[in-house]
Amino acid sequence: MQYENTLTAARALDQQDPLRAYREQFVFPMHSGEQVRYLCGNSLGLQPKTIRQALLNELDQWAEHGVEGHFRGELPWMHYHKYLTAQTARLVGALPQEVVVMNTLTVNLHLMMASFYRPTPARFKIVMEAGAFPSDQYAMESQVRWHGFDPEQAIVEVAPRAGEDILRTEDILQIIENHGDSVALVMFGGVNYYTGQFYDLQKITLAGHRVGAKVGFDLAHAAGNLPLQLHDWGPDFAVWCSYKYLNSGPGGPSGAFVHERHANSPELPRFAGWWGHDEKERFKMKKGFRPMLGAEGWQLSNAQIFAFAAHKASLDIFDAAGIENLRTKSLQLTAFLEQVLQEANGDRNLFRIITPTDPSQRGCQLSLLTDDRGKALFDYLAENGVIADWREPNVIRFAPVPLYNSFEDVWQVGQLVGRFIR
Ligand SMILES: *Cc1c(COP(=O)(O)O)cnc(C)c1O
Repeated sequence: MQYENTLTAARALDQQDPLRAYREQFVFPMHSGEQVRYLCGNSLGLQPKTIRQALLNELDQWAEHGVEGHFRGELPWMHYHKYLTAQTARLVGALPQEVVVMNTLTVNLHLMMASFYRPTPARFKIVMEAGAFPSDQYAMESQVRWHGFDPEQAIVEVAPRAGEDILRTEDILQIIENHGDSVALVMFGGVNYYTGQFYDLQKITLAGHRVGAKVGFDLAHAAGNLPLQLHDWGPDFAVWCSYKYLNSGPGGPSGAFVHERHANSPELPRFAGWWGHDEKERFKMKKGFRPMLGAEGWQLSNAQIFAFAAHKASLDIFDAAGIENLRTKSLQLTAFLEQVLQEANGDRNLFRIITPTDPSQRGCQLSLLTDDRGKALFDYLAENGVIADWREPNVIRFAPVPLYNSFEDVWQVGQLVGRFIR
């Protein structure tokens, strides 16, 4: 579909947008007295206005009840993680028992790998995407070493073919098959942070399981960006953060998914803490760890109440808007962005969009691989009130987020890029 690339047309699209009111629920930074055009929700989502009150409520609860806040008030702290479960399960397509909010993302990645990366001399490899987010690369490398293996031999990276920017699903599946029963774990991002490519998580899961490996996903750039069906797709585990598309604030808590098939597996090795212990016995303070059923059995500590309260306020918005509705708008916003960028670029080739053109292989992010004027373009946009994201050496990432970005935002970005190029 072709959009009309005018301000009037963009405003008309905003008028017809059934989700337009959600924009009002967010706080926008200001630039020269006006709200910025914020296309950086893939890095840090904007602040939902409701979070301030949610935090104040917990401060009041603490002030009023002290330690009794664990048992009193509207949301006693003792059970706080449970208040997030139903919404989290809906968001990622899981059963409630399969999800828990805890810790931060990289911590959870390690906790999951403690259980699901169990290398043996014959089966010790990890198949992952080349160019994964650095924290994931370091986590894999250190896990491999921790078990006494050599990352050079144990880590198998799937890279794009020469002259290509993104991975072909067939190549991912083929490499998993080629390494066969030497693969202990297949570990992929959901959406690659750099290219914006959304992988076929179901096919990757099937291929991993076919060779007898465990399968895990880092959904940092997928959760809140795309509808997911984790239970049906069937990976063994997944982890994600809440401060990117999920708008829960800097350093916000992480979500973890453990598939139902591992729900009642007390024999699975894990790093345990008291909050993962059977809650009926948690306060008996006895020896002998007995995990909770399901994902809750991987918890270590009692909930970080302020971070969880912010996350809950944000999840309420996702629940009200609906991830499927958000995806519908997201497809339109991103297609519009793609069009205005291509029209601005024309035949000048200041940049090339390396994100897949197929909408089913991407979320809302578009990544522009620029020539040596890229940083100047990025700075020009910033001077004109557009917040995007710069990745060395020469990529600009734009993420029009359906909860709070408008077609007018996107149109404006196209205008500025065009003006810079001309
Ligand atoms: C943002 C991101 C992280 C960040 O990890 P933290 O532990 O939350 O700091 C890790 N992995 C991926 C893929 C990310 O996109």
